[in-house]
Amino acid sequence: MLKIKNLHAAIEGKEILKGINLEINPGEVHAIMGPNGSGKSTLSSVIAGKEEFEMTAGEIIFQNEDLTDLDPEERAHKGIFLSFQYPVEIPGVSVTNFMKASINAHRKSQGLDDMPANEMLKLIREKSELLEIDRKFLSRSLNQGFSGGEKKRNEIFQMAMLNPKLAILDETDSGLDIDALKVVANGVNKLRSSENAVLLITHYQRLLDYIVPDVVHVMVDGKIVKSGPKELAYELEEKGYDWLKPEQV
Ligand code: ADP
Ligand code: MG
Ligand code: MG
Repeated sequence: MLKIKNLHAAIEGKEILKGINLEINPGEVHAIMGPNGSGKSTLSSVIAGKEEFEMTAGEIIFQNEDLTDLDPEERAHKGIFLSFQYPVEIPGVSVTNFMKASINAHRKSQGLDDMPANEMLKLIREKSELLEIDRKFLSRSLNQGFSGGEKKRNEIFQMAMLNPKLAILDETDSGLDIDALKVVANGVNKLRSSENAVLLITHYQRLLDYIVPDVVHVMVDGKIVKSGPKELAYELEEKGYDWLKPEQV
C-alpha cells in the first residue's frame, strides 16, 4: 500500500529525515516510536504532503502511484488520512454537522456533489453505532469544552466517516489519559480491515497494549534505526532509546 524509499526531507534548509525506508501492506498496523525531535511528526507531514517540508530525495509510493507531485488535498482523496488535518474546534458547529462538512468537502474536491441527506444520515448512524457513539455526543458543539477523550472520539469518528485506506495517527499530545487511549484503540481496532492500513505514531507504549501492531519501528535522528515485532515496544519501555542512538563522538 505504502512504499517509502530513501526519503530525505528538510525544513528551512535543515535536514530532518535522513533516509527513511518503510513498507506497509494492506491490513497492517505499523507503530513508529522514538524520542522527541527524532522526526516522527515530520514523517507524517511529508507523507500527507504538507508544503512547509521539502522532500530532497527519495520516493513515496502509495498504491503504486508516486505521490511527489500531489498536494495534501489530492493525497487525501487518494485515501490518506492524517489526524488533526482539519480544525476540531469550530464554534457553534455540532459533531454531526462537522462530519457532514468533512464528507462533503472531501467529495467536492473530487468533483462530486454533496452526499444526499438520507445517505449521509445512514452513514452517520452506521459509523456511530460501530464506534458506540451516543446521540448526545452527535449534537454536541465542537467548542463545548471537549475532554481529551472526546476530542479523540471526534477524530476517530471523522476517520470512520472518511474511511481512508491509510490512516496516519500522530499522537503528539502529552496529555492522553487512559480514556483517550482506549477511545483511539477501540476505534482503530474496529476500523482495521484487510483493505486498509494504519501508521500509528506514538510515544505511549501503553497504547500498544490495546492496539497490537504488526511492526514497530524506532526512529532516531531522522532514521529508522530498528524495526521488529510488537515485543520491541516492551523492550523500548524497559531500556529507553539510548542503546539505539548512534555513538556520540
Ligand atoms: P517528533 O515528532 O519525533 O518529536 P518532529 O518531526 O516534530 O519530531 O521534529 C523533528 C525536528 O524537526 C526537530 O528538530 C524540530 O525542531 C524540527 N522541526 C519540526 N517542525 C519544524 C518547523 N515547522 N520548523 C522548523 N523546524 C521544525
Ligand atoms: Mg515532538
Ligand atoms: Mg511529533
